[in-house]
Amino acid sequence: EWIDLAEVIDNAVHKVQLKASDKGLALSTKLNRRTSWVYGDGLRMEQVILNLLENSVRYTEQGEISIMLDQTDSYVFVKVKDTGIGIAAEELPYVFERFYRVEKSRSRQHGGSGLGLSIAKKLVELQGGEIFVNSRLGQGTTFEIRFKQEEQGGST
Ligand code: ATP
Ligand code: MG
Repeated sequence: EWIDLAEVIDNAVHKVQLKASDKGLALSTKLNRRTSWVYGDGLRMEQVILNLLENSVRYTEQGEISIMLDQTDSYVFVKVKDTGIGIAAEELPYVFERFYRVEKSRSRQHGGSGLGLSIAKKLVELQGGEIFVNSRLGQGTTFEIRFKQEEQGGST
């Protein structure tokens, strides 16, 4: 089905809004609504984005979380950015592995099972997309998902 990523993001943001404000975290959105259609599964897409936003809320103690939607010539992308605890460079390659949790002792106080990102990666790839992470310890983390621009079957 064709899904409107802007609408999916709005729904996911709505669901984490309260958790974010309970922690005093601002949650901002910057969505290019003109080119937000991709082919995929709306519920799965929402699950992925919700996962990323929930991680940002869980692993950020102060500052802000932002989500943006935009496009390049070749793909549509969503970025979820936070000013949280960050992930050390040597741990970064493993965060998409099942049950992997960074720095076990600290992570444990946050709850969680270490499955969220491995599921998110599978769901993104099932829909023909890719997921990337960029992070600096103590500074924050950005996750990005990308989907190739596809023909929407319109004429001219
Ligand atoms: P679950 O999502 O299953 O409840 P989880 O959040 O621990 O548990 P993942 O979402 O798979 O598991 O994330 C794996 C690990 O990556 C986390 O335990 C955390 O250490 C690290 N991580 C994920 N997102 C962030 C983030 N935004 N900032 C800092 N660390 C993160
Ligand atoms: Mg998680």
